[in-house]
Amino acid sequence: MNKPLPDDLLSALNNVTGFDAPSFIQTHQEASPITSVRINKNKIFNISDSVLTIDEKVSWSSSGFYLTHRPSFTLDPLFHAGAYYVQEASSMFLEVVIKQSCDLQNNIKVLDLCAAPGGKSTLIQSLISKDSLLVCNEVIKTRVNVLTENITKWGATNVVISNNDPKDFQRLPNYFDLIVVDAPCSGSGLFRKDPDAINEWSIENVSLCHQRQQRILTDVLPALKPGGTLIYSTCSYSYEENEAITDWLVNNNDVDSIKIQLEEKWNIIETNSQENKCFGYRFYPNKIKGEGFFITAFQKKSTSEIKYDKKPKPHPDLLKKADLAKLEKYFEPVDDCQFFYWKNDIIAMPFKMMNEITLLQFALYIKKAGLNIGSLIRDELLPSHELALNTLLHQKIPTIEVKKETALDYLRLHDIKISGTEIGWHIIKYGGVSLGLIKVLHNRINNYYPKEWRIVHK
Ligand code: SAM
Repeated sequence: MNKPLPDDLLSALNNVTGFDAPSFIQTHQEASPITSVRINKNKIFNISDSVLTIDEKVSWSSSGFYLTHRPSFTLDPLFHAGAYYVQEASSMFLEVVIKQSCDLQNNIKVLDLCAAPGGKSTLIQSLISKDSLLVCNEVIKTRVNVLTENITKWGATNVVISNNDPKDFQRLPNYFDLIVVDAPCSGSGLFRKDPDAINEWSIENVSLCHQRQQRILTDVLPALKPGGTLIYSTCSYSYEENEAITDWLVNNNDVDSIKIQLEEKWNIIETNSQENKCFGYRFYPNKIKGEGFFITAFQKKSTSEIKYDKKPKPHPDLLKKADLAKLEKYFEPVDDCQFFYWKNDIIAMPFKMMNEITLLQFALYIKKAGLNIGSLIRDELLPSHELALNTLLHQKIPTIEVKKETALDYLRLHDIKISGTEIGWHIIKYGGVSLGLIKVLHNRINNYYPKEWRIVHK
């Protein structure tokens, strides 16, 4: 049985739409948390090669599934390959909100402002076109690494990762078509999964979170285009962090609330804020199969001029033809990507993103952009781990499909033995999905799995 919920939280929720105290409390005391995953549609694999035991589909998601139980993801090579992302089911509702509030047929520019560890970012990346741009930002430096790891494993070229404070985005006025603010919050929605968080909860913290959420939104809203969409979400039940924020948004900014069409069977609760009747969507674990969540969407009204000149920006240092030719033995020529030098590395990026990257470089502290191919050393490519994990570039690097034990040895950065293999670079695959690179030499095999991502426990 879980810890009792804070009395102050329960009494504050009594007036909140959809709150049903007895069944809410009972769900927290009895039910065990639910595990769900979202499949990466770009990495086709056989479920039977993974540790996943699928129960049923998440009804509001195109690629989300509940599992019958929580397996050891660490011991699944397909988890490390980015074949799926372990994500709480309620959060996957972002897909419905984006589809109903944005035109995904267009190439759009998206900012995921509070992005680490990358759950919403990988979801957004799966929804947007390949020529759209996704900027995943995380203000806390120590959390940028896990974001980078998850984005790299997801394997996309149209993503930029930045490490900036929300107010830095004011250097990009009216720039983004969609901004997602999955705000830091008091976290009551996750009490069932993380009962220890109950001890940290207080009314004072809810109030501090409310102020911080206002500050974050004030800072970032100038970066949203007129007509663009703002999506705000929390994993808190508190009215102050949810509906009160929507009222404050409408009172202080030029935005209109957007209504989302719900299917009755979802059992998601639509709420209206007290003052402006803004639409919000509440997820209660006693009503849906998932954890506590709140999400709401707005359209920016004002028609202020977009200040960006449409002149092409100077491109970064494009790859010389001779160097491009050296890459051709690793992958087929790709028409929709541009290649350029970045420090000692070569980066591939969709053409449409090239005009943006110079602008973003001036405005933001960029940790990663596009796909790092590797570096040329004495005319030979030292291919990057990213190249091996990417799905867009068709690789000519030979592949070796291995059994699970060898795959896990590879991921532990142990020496691996594969007989009868040609000398040179190879991609190690498990279940048909790339795990990374090895280099076969005359007398040994070098394991190129990134040290910082290796499996450390048995
Ligand atoms: N969107 C993420 C996902 O789906 O994986 C989860 C985001 S988590 C709810 C909130 C994030 O906001 C954390 O990564 C946290 O580091 C970041 N954060 C904390 N304080 C912040 C601030 N003042 N401004 C912007 N982001 C902040």
